[in-house]
Amino acid sequence: MNTHVLGFPRIGANRELKRALESYWRREISETELTAVADALKMENWRTQSQAGLAWVTTGDFSFYDHILDTIALVGAVPERFGWNGESVDLDTYFRMARGDVKRNLSAMEMTKWFDANYHYIVPEITPRTALRRGSSKVVTETRQAINAGYEAKPVLVGPVTFLSVAKEFDGANRWDCLEALTAIYCEVIRELADLGCEWIQVDEPILATDLSEAATAAFETCWPRLTQAAGSARVMLSTYFGPLNENLGLATESGAHALHVDLVRGPDQLDAVLNQAPSGMTVSLGLVDGRNIWKTDLARAAKALERARDQIGADRVLVGSSCSLLHSPVDLTNETLLADELKNWMAFAVQKCDEVAVLGRWLAGGDVTVDMEANASAIASRRAHAEVVRPEVRERAAAVTPDMLSRQSPYPQRAAAQKAWLKLPLLPTTTIGSFPQTTEIRQMRLKTKKGDVDPAAYEAFIQAEIQSVVDKQEALGLDVLVHGEPERNDMVEYFGQQLDGFCFTRNGWVQSYGSRCVKPPIIYGDVSRPRPMTVEWSRYAQSLTKKPMKGMLTGPVTILCWSFVRDDLSRAEVCQQIALAIRDEVQDLETAGIRVIQIDEAALREGLPLRRADHAAYLRWAVDSFRLTASGVEDATQIHTHMCYSEFNAIIKWIADMDADVISIESSRSKMELLDAFRQFDYPNEIGPGVYDIHSPRVPSKDEVLELLQLALKDVPKERLWVNPDCGLKTRAWPETIASLENMVSATLALRAKLE
Ligand code: GLN
Ligand code: ZN
Repeated sequence: MNTHVLGFPRIGANRELKRALESYWRREISETELTAVADALKMENWRTQSQAGLAWVTTGDFSFYDHILDTIALVGAVPERFGWNGESVDLDTYFRMARGDVKRNLSAMEMTKWFDANYHYIVPEITPRTALRRGSSKVVTETRQAINAGYEAKPVLVGPVTFLSVAKEFDGANRWDCLEALTAIYCEVIRELADLGCEWIQVDEPILATDLSEAATAAFETCWPRLTQAAGSARVMLSTYFGPLNENLGLATESGAHALHVDLVRGPDQLDAVLNQAPSGMTVSLGLVDGRNIWKTDLARAAKALERARDQIGADRVLVGSSCSLLHSPVDLTNETLLADELKNWMAFAVQKCDEVAVLGRWLAGGDVTVDMEANASAIASRRAHAEVVRPEVRERAAAVTPDMLSRQSPYPQRAAAQKAWLKLPLLPTTTIGSFPQTTEIRQMRLKTKKGDVDPAAYEAFIQAEIQSVVDKQEALGLDVLVHGEPERNDMVEYFGQQLDGFCFTRNGWVQSYGSRCVKPPIIYGDVSRPRPMTVEWSRYAQSLTKKPMKGMLTGPVTILCWSFVRDDLSRAEVCQQIALAIRDEVQDLETAGIRVIQIDEAALREGLPLRRADHAAYLRWAVDSFRLTASGVEDATQIHTHMCYSEFNAIIKWIADMDADVISIESSRSKMELLDAFRQFDYPNEIGPGVYDIHSPRVPSKDEVLELLQLALKDVPKERLWVNPDCGLKTRAWPETIASLENMVSATLALRAKLE
């Protein structure tokens, strides 16, 4: 009895939870009906884990929205504005925290990325008035459900130190002031779970895979011995993931936990240290099956790690698990019909990962798993030998990249002069970030074309008409640099992935992003190259409709990488460089076609930052170099733009400058241009378009508001280098507010321009 996974996806193999949630929010189904869907999903997930032969099924990992929000409910960290009555947190209060409530004028709680995953959690709010008290029994109830259904349940909790670490402090609060009350609640919950007869209780502390503050370290030392004591006859597993423990290993091994789970996918080199330092009473759980990716585990290699552990500490002290929760992988590979059989045979989704863990567990227990191991070895060998996985011409091209390919011909000041000479733009040029409203009509047209219900010629005519219409609208608005509006794109990564070699796509490989939202990342399985131009015809057509400069629109290599499932047999840096070379060709083809303003979006550059500060520089070096490789093949007079969707740049501003884009556009309206502090302190040398209005809401900014923001911006950016644009693309907006907002943006600009000239 030695196998488990750290958590299972809750969204359902066919996104059943998404549908049920959205129906519930539209008031089409009742709470009872929603709960029934949830119960069925939990049962199905437990059945999957049990049928695979895992020793325990994980409980408490199900969530109606987010497991951090569940923890907020568990410990009663409900912000005051939601008017919680202090009893059990009801479902509507729960959803109000996640989604806000327009009628009651309640803003939702903030959401942010869960460590370096593409999953977003609800950020706990700590104020000096936060008074924690038990607000939910969900994990206990679910565990009882599983036990009653005949399963061996292993409940999971988000660890208290992680919970407080990922919270946000308001009004001068100190998060650690909550530690005492929080620990008391955790002890109570752990006691209740132990009373149900659970053998193991899993407590997740992924924060141990990051650089811990002194306060967090101290909190960990205070809190953990109490948790493990509260468990009585049950045993507590401290689970860590997303990276190696490094200097926090001692903290973990001395925590008093009865087991320590380590991520050997993200931190394979820590095995020896873990085995050496684990006290003799501590079980070690080896996370060998990747919870963050879709590839089959190399079982022979995983067995070697198990062998080492067994030989050193004895098989009875070893458990086998997934590296982290399977929340981050799609649910079931079985129903994939889009994938070629050969490619499919290289992959494992959550259901298949349970089987892999079980096989490794049987191997460890001395069972005969020859058949499974042989099938796995042949899949791994087939992947390694596949002609599209390693393509000599792609490897040779990458090897031939020289330093001069990473630099434009001249430094920015000379380029700016060359660009000014032909662009002849007014002061404070206006532009948009690329996409215009994606109406139902556009979405339906793309869908029908995909299904073959519309022939390609009709589709082309439709998209051309759409481009014509957005060009007309932009000219009427008086914008200076136009865009074609991206009506042909469903998604800024998928659109390119579908046209590049080395990518494949699933039909149903959905992964939860937040709440009911899921993403279906492309899979990079082979060497990447570009068989033919991808955007040139649309951009050329758009340019033919106007005398104003038309901006070509591309997604950058780092963003394509970050939003895909990436092959695990080549470094991310190398994969990124291959993508960069492919997009570089597109940039040059656009230039040749007469598109001489080109935007390369790097929305994900910052979110790709490694968890440990010590790893930041290495990542930023190759990420920025990939961008530079993409952008540098053009003439000085060709203007390169980039766009990023967030404003927290302070830590990486010098790297942003090192990208050496001629123009960068960034989100900044919500923070009232605060981001410009970073740009001023660093003395950013090139042109900047800090977003002047928030595109995330349908609200139309007034002319005065835009004017005020522009005046603020002019304090930090010389007028010769300031651009005017919205915060981000407009595809989620409707036309009426888009036109109204852009009108105000343009008229504010005209007013200011008149004063400056
Ligand atoms: N060009 C893209 C758009 O306008 C950029 C989106 C993004 O960066 N998220 O939609
Ligand atoms: Zn954006």
